[in-house]
Amino acid sequence: MVSLGPIRQTLNNVLTLNLLAEMAWGFYYSIMITVKLNKELDYEVYDDFKAFEMSGANFAEAIKKDHSNIHEDNYLQYIDDFYKTNSDLLEKSCQEINDYLSQNQEAFFAKMNELFGLDFFTDEYLGYISIFNCNPRYVENKTFQIFYKKDLLDKAEVAFHESLHFAFFDFCDLFVDETRNLDKNNGPLWELSEIFNVIILNLPQFQTILKRPEQLFYPGLKEKFKQVQPIWLVNEGNLKNFIAESLNLWPKVPLT
Ligand SMILES: [Zn+2]
Repeated sequence: MVSLGPIRQTLNNVLTLNLLAEMAWGFYYSIMITVKLNKELDYEVYDDFKAFEMSGANFAEAIKKDHSNIHEDNYLQYIDDFYKTNSDLLEKSCQEINDYLSQNQEAFFAKMNELFGLDFFTDEYLGYISIFNCNPRYVENKTFQIFYKKDLLDKAEVAFHESLHFAFFDFCDLFVDETRNLDKNNGPLWELSEIFNVIILNLPQFQTILKRPEQLFYPGLKEKFKQVQPIWLVNEGNLKNFIAESLNLWPKVPLT
């Protein structure tokens, strides 16, 4: 008769090792970006963007282009109907980007950690699929929207672009005194954050992950982009100096 003792012991050792490996992996690997559906947020986004334009980007037109029949008096019903009729499409859009991000976000966050010298692996950012091509983000709770019709690489670009904004603002809050009291949604710091994203996401180490060039979305920022780029080249590797020096390009607006 074979004694089960040694077999049990071996089995226990294997189980313990597996458990330890899983715990170590779980500690190291966490999900940084998750994407969900959120119809209620689309009610708000329609209301906020139905007549909105910023730095040459016309969001009102973008909404009308995809939804010519939506207007102020029918938008709640319109959005309800759209979600009902297109539920499969929206679910699929959401699933696809989550699958893609689960394969690629770790590489992106590793590069972001290197860039800022901080650990963002434990941060959690929440994205929502939207039926409108506005793609807003909300810095205060690290959430953002992605237009459902974008292809997979463009959806990932939005998720990575917004993640870089959240990390940039965290870095500014921690290390750059000159950004204190500056608005993150408007004015110099916001404009610099958009330009920063174009510079950074076009670096080779980020391009291998994004797989398509990052464009400046706001035409009104083109001139400032040309002025900021040389400051990056001089300060590459010193983010704090780069941000502080770049902000000197904007006129100082006294705080009210
Ligand atoms: Zn942006």
